[in-house]
Order: sequence, then structure tokens, then C-alpha cells
Amino acid sequence: MNTLQTIQTFIDFFRERGHQFIPASSLVPAAGDPVLFTTSGMHPLTPYLEGRPHPLGRRLVGVQRCLRTTDLDEVGDTWHLTVFEMLGSWSLGDYAGPQSLRWGYELICDGFGISPDRLHATVFGGDEQVGADTELADIWGELGIPVELTREENWWSNGPTGLCGPDSELFVWTGSSPPQGTPGSDQRWLELWNHVMMRYRRHGDGSLERLAQPNVDTGMGLERLVTVLQARDSVFDCDVFEPWVSTVRELWSPDEQTVRLLTDHLRSGTVIIGDGIRPSNTGRGYVLRRLIRRALTALWRDDPSRTLSDLPAGVTEQTLGHFGQGTELGHVRQVLQDEERRFAELLVRGRKIVSQRRSAGPPDEEELRYLHQTHGLPPELVTALMPEVQ
Ligand code: ATP
Ligand code: MG
Repeated sequence: MNTLQTIQTFIDFFRERGHQFIPASSLVPAAGDPVLFTTSGMHPLTPYLEGRPHPLGRRLVGVQRCLRTTDLDEVGDTWHLTVFEMLGSWSLGDYAGPQSLRWGYELICDGFGISPDRLHATVFGGDEQVGADTELADIWGELGIPVELTREENWWSNGPTGLCGPDSELFVWTGSSPPQGTPGSDQRWLELWNHVMMRYRRHGDGSLERLAQPNVDTGMGLERLVTVLQARDSVFDCDVFEPWVSTVRELWSPDEQTVRLLTDHLRSGTVIIGDGIRPSNTGRGYVLRRLIRRALTALWRDDPSRTLSDLPAGVTEQTLGHFGQGTELGHVRQVLQDEERRFAELLVRGRKIVSQRRSAGPPDEEELRYLHQTHGLPPELVTALMPEVQ
């Protein structure tokens, strides 16, 4: 099953159970939202999870592009991406957790054909304020799925205050041997789908108030699911990344880790530009700038003559098309090339300035601040250039 069929199967399943399809939002949250990027499928639905009636009703389904800067350092491993898509289903004060888990099981096992023998669930084990979620643990037990109880891992919140509640996560075994251990004890259990019981609001003093409208919010990583369905070893081996991976390999033949980094960062950068962001020194633009510059640093490590101008239009076009972004292809390519030129100029200037330093040894904080403020050299760039010029 390819990525598009997987999305369709998910949406059809929930539509047949009374859910209305909501189109994806941009990576850029609505005006006034302090968050830099949409980090999960629930984010654009926040006002409705808070109780405002949704125009399409109380059962919703969708697929949302997300960006997590917190996962940037994990990128290159088997399962983490900077920009990824989340399949989501929502009950806005309608059905409760047990129904969500039963449907989840049905879709995963009957719809997608994953054997129940490869599944493990986790459930909230309780703390000083909220008891263990025995109801959900019993549902998994009834379905024949082993359960692990945890405290921190199964409590969902979106910050120190606001909506929160216990969750239940579904894991799939990705090892080559028969399943063993638990998600908490064996990394080969891959987290696939989180079902959040949004039942509370946390106040500033730490107390919890029960919501008049308890919701169920679920999110499943699309690329992870497709990778499991296509029996691949990592998200980078599934169909949606194929054009990027083969282009990067053909153009620059870097090592496997660099293929992953370039694929993730250049594709993520394309989607961010597609959502109207340009590189800058603050906020969203800075995240974009960091992604492009990290990609260029990796690209130039072996050969500084490499250039993003060599990227064929096809990969950019495929990505914009996949996300339904109307941004002009030429614009995306121009932004990437302008940033490449700016970074190359900065490196030339940076090398010169760093090599002219009078003091020996690594620069202290004060000098780093001076180099940044007076010469526009970010501290991480200075640190990276130090071994080169010494
Ligand atoms: P993990 O512990 O694996 O980082 P998470 O607990 O951060 O995942 P959730 O916040 O529960 O994940 O997000 C819901 C789902 O989205 C996850 O179960 C996973 O399938 C997917 N997901 C989360 N982060 C990423 C990522 N960086 N790349 C790809 N998929 C992701
Ligand atoms: Mg989680």
C-alpha cells in the first residue's frame, strides 16, 4: 500500500464511522498563535477542543503536516523527521476513549493487515492526582493486546497549563526476531498511534479541572505507518521519500547518514517555503535558515563546489504537489539558491575574520557575542570554523 492509498484508507475508515474530513492547515499557525509551527494534528483544532462548536460536527478526520524542531537532532535515525504528516481522528465531546481504541485496533489489524501479535499498548498508570486508566487497559486486554502502564510517557499536555489528560499509545514490533520485552524496555517497539483522552484543564496552581466537553484526539505518524506497511527499515525507505533519496544519491553520492539528513532538511525546507516562509534571523525564518544551512554544511563537507542549483525541479514539484501547495516552483528554487549564496559569502567572511583572531584557544562567550553582533557570525558557525583555521 503506498502513501496515498494509506491516507485514503484512513480517511475512508473514519468517514464510514461518521467523521467529516477537515482539510490540512498550513505549517504556520493562525495569526495570534505564539507557537512557531504546527506540531501536531490537534493544533489547528485547539479552539474546538476548548469547546467552540466545529462547523462540521463532533467527529472529524484529517491529515496534517507538522514540524518539530525538538526532533531536529534525532533526524537521521530510523523514525524521526523534521516535517512529517499526522493522520488524526477527533471526537469533540462525542464518543469516549474505549470506542477510539476499538476502532484503532480494527483499522490497524483488519484495514491495514498488521498482525495483532506485533502490537503492544501503553496506558496511563496513575499519579497523585489522577488514577490509572484501568478502563483503557481492560479494552486492550479484551482485544488481546499486551499493556504496559507508565506515568510520564502516557500523560499528554500542551504546556504547563491548559488542556491535558491521559493517553494510550499503540506500538508495533519492528525487530527481525519475534516480539519481546515492552515499549519501555525495547527500542524495537515503534510508537505508531497516540490516543489522547483530553479530559482536563490544568490551572496555574497545578490543579486539574474536568472539562465539560471531554475530547478524544488521536495522531498517527503517516510515514511510520507506511514504512511498516511497506516492510521497510526506516522512514526514508518508504515511497514518499524515494524521489529525494534517489536524487540526493545520484547527485552527490554521500554516506547513508548524509542522504537522510539532506533528504529530510531539503524536503522540509521546501514545504516551509511552500507555506510562505523565507529565511531570516528570527522565528520561523530562522528555523528555515538553520535547516538549509545544516544541509549545506553536510553537502560541502566533502566538496564545497556542490550546489543546490543542481537539484532537479521534479523533486521540489513532487513535494509541493503532495502537500497541495500552490507556491511557484521557481520561487522555492530561488529562495534556496539565494540562501546558498548568502551562506557561502558568510563562510568566506567568517573564515577570514576567525583566522585573524589574535587570542589563542577557543573564543569565550564575550568574543562569540562580539563576532555575532559586529560581524554577523553566529556562534555555532565560529565554533565550526575554528578547527579549519587553527
Ligand atoms: P516519539 O516518542 O517516537 O518521538 P512522540 O511521543 O513525540 O513520538 P506524539 O507526540 O504522540 O509522538 O505524536 C503522535 C505520532 O506522530 C507518533 O505516535 C508518531 O507516529 C508520529 N511522530 C511524532 N514525532 C515524529 C517525527 N519527528 N517524525 C515522524 N513521525 C513522528
Ligand atoms: Mg508520545
